[in-house]
Amino acid sequence: MMPTQSTVQSATCPECEGEIAFQRRPLAGEVVVCVGCSAELEVQTVEPLVLALAPEVEEDWGE
Ligand SMILES: [Zn+2]
Repeated sequence: MMPTQSTVQSATCPECEGEIAFQRRPLAGEVVVCVGCSAELEVQTVEPLVLALAPEVEEDWGE
C-alpha cells in the first residue's frame, strides 16, 4: 500500500515575500511564476525548498 501524503510544500517569494504553494513536489530547476508579483522564480533546491529569481532571459533571436 502506498502512503497517501498530501503535504503541500510552500516557499516564500524573494521578491514580494508572498507564499508560493506547490500542489505537487517541485523539481530543482523548475521555474514558477509568483501569483503575487508575477516574478519568475527558479527552484534552487528542494530540500529545503528555496526559490530565487530566475535570471532574466533576453530574447535574442538572431538578427
Ligand atoms: Zn512574488
